[in-house]
Amino acid sequence: MSIDMNNTVTARGIHKRFGDTKVLHGVDLAVDKGEVVVIMGPSGSGKTTLLRSLNFLEQPDSGMVQIAGIQVNIAENTPYTSRQKKDIEQIRRKSAMVFQSFNLFPHMTAIANVIEGLVSVQGMPVKAAREKGLALLERVGLSHKADAYPAHLSGGQKQRVAIARGLAMDPEVILFDEPTSALDPELRDGVLDVMRDLARDGMTMLVVTHEVRFAKSAANRIIFMEQGAILADCAAETFFSGQTTPRIAQFLGQVR
Ligand code: ADP
Repeated sequence: MSIDMNNTVTARGIHKRFGDTKVLHGVDLAVDKGEVVVIMGPSGSGKTTLLRSLNFLEQPDSGMVQIAGIQVNIAENTPYTSRQKKDIEQIRRKSAMVFQSFNLFPHMTAIANVIEGLVSVQGMPVKAAREKGLALLERVGLSHKADAYPAHLSGGQKQRVAIARGLAMDPEVILFDEPTSALDPELRDGVLDVMRDLARDGMTMLVVTHEVRFAKSAANRIIFMEQGAILADCAAETFFSGQTTPRIAQFLGQVR
C-alpha cells in the first residue's frame, strides 16, 4: 500500500501482542479526509486495539502510523526517540478519541470538561475557551446543560459532552470506540444523530460499532476484522448487500 499524503489516517503493518497473544497481525488501513469508516467484527477480533494503536493509547509492537501528515515508524523492541515522542504527542492532538465509557472528569461541569484541553494544553484564555465550548455544546444539543456535572447527565448526554470535548481540539479525525454500547437503547439515537451530523459536515471518522443502521446510513466504507486481521474493506453498500462472503453474512445475521 502506498502512502497517499492526502489520507488523514494511514496505518501500515501494525503488529500488536499482549503477552503470548498476538492481537494484530500486520494491519493496513487508510482513511481519506472526510471519510467515515466503520470497523465491525466479532468481539475479541482486535478492533479496539487497532483504534487505540492509531493514537498510541496502545503501543504497537511494530508498524507505521501516519495521522494528519505526521508519521511514526515503530520498530520492534526499540524505545521511542524523543522525536517520536513529540510526533506521538502531535498525533494525539490531531486525533480525538471517544470512549465507550465517556471518561468525563466527574468533578467538572460539562463546559469545564469540554474546555479542559483548550485551556490546559492549548493555553487558550478561559473566556475564549468558554465561548468555543458553549458553541460546541450547542452543536451537540446540550448548551442548556453547560453547568451540569456528569452525575446529573444521562449516559447519552455524557457521551455528547465527550464528543464536544473531542471537537474542541479541532481534530483531523475522531476515533470512536463503541460510543453507544454502554447506553440504553433509547439513549443511543441522540448520540448517533450527533455523529451523523458530524459525518455530514465532513468530519473524518473511524468508528468501531455494532450499530448496523448507523453504518448503513453514515459510513462510506466498512472494515471487517477477524482474529487481528482485516477480512474485508469495502463500500458500505457492498458490505450490507449480502454479496460478500459467507462469514460476513453469518456475522450480519448475528448483529442485526
Ligand atoms: P475487540 O475490540 O474486537 O473486541 P480487542 O481489541 O478489545 O477486540 O481485543 C483483542 C484481543 O486482545 C482480545 O483477545 C483481548 O482479550 C486482548 N486484549 C485486549 N486488551 C488487552 C490487554 N490490555 N491485555 C491483555 N489482553 C488484551
